[in-house]
Amino acid sequence: MLNFVYHPDYSYDFPDHHRFPMSKFFRLHRWLQDQGLLDQVWVQSPDKASIGDLSRVHDLAYVTAMADGSLSDAQLKRLRLPWTPELANRSFLAANGTYLTCQLAIRHGLALHMAGGTHHSHREGGAGFCVFNDMAYATIRLLESAQVERVLILDTDVHQGDGTAQILKGYPGSFTCSLHCQQNYPHPKACSDLDVPIQKGCDDQGYLDILERTLDLLLERFAPDLVIYDAGADIHEHDQLGLLQVSAEGMAQRDHLVFDRCIRDGIAVAGVIGGGYSADREALVSLHGIPFRVAIENAGKWGLRLRKTVA
Ligand SMILES: [Zn+2]
Repeated sequence: MLNFVYHPDYSYDFPDHHRFPMSKFFRLHRWLQDQGLLDQVWVQSPDKASIGDLSRVHDLAYVTAMADGSLSDAQLKRLRLPWTPELANRSFLAANGTYLTCQLAIRHGLALHMAGGTHHSHREGGAGFCVFNDMAYATIRLLESAQVERVLILDTDVHQGDGTAQILKGYPGSFTCSLHCQQNYPHPKACSDLDVPIQKGCDDQGYLDILERTLDLLLERFAPDLVIYDAGADIHEHDQLGLLQVSAEGMAQRDHLVFDRCIRDGIAVAGVIGGGYSADREALVSLHGIPFRVAIENAGKWGLRLRKTVA
């Protein structure tokens, strides 16, 4: 069964001129619906994560301040988002959305989240539009409860997954890998278990060659049960923040490479959308929609049942 995960509260009333495109979650869901893609899969919604659950990953004081709106000015400045009750609500939901996506992936082989990938959030607080670190949170919950033994975080967002690297440093059963553009935020970078810096301007072929070599190495050396895959759209050539030159077709090849390689090896894959920045919000969601389309188009090949096959 192919499952997607979404909650209608992921987007909320938010200034549309803001650099962070808060409407993209709602727009992505609508875009997938308009394409007839949601008729073919099962769509599940998460409950909110609790303060107790999130405090295994973040400092309790930070989680509490996020819940009740008492973040300091310095914390808000690092986060780069204005606090509202709606921001808190979506953040507690989206963390569990990635956890739910992982559980569905473990059960069925592949599942995708219409949010997630908030990888700049550190143990002590959020940064760079990222409130809670959903991928570290899901990893720790899954490993603590022995639902899996080995989790690989494969982060292909154009920015380095610095928060994920910090939170999971030395955590038994986890392995963090970040493929990112060396010249992009953050500066300085953290130390993932494996960092693969890519030079600005890298095109489809160069990018896919690096990814394929990295994936071969990771699957052979680490042998994960589950891959949490951050399919960031900000590697696209027209992204406002990203400095790589990967086309939409190259992104589809990236997603196919990751899904195909893992599923054929019997490794579950949970995908999250990661970053993507464009003033043209509809163009942006058509890029975020790529991994969802790739999953549906190849579901039969991978033995994933669809709800209904649309001609
Ligand atoms: Zn990014």
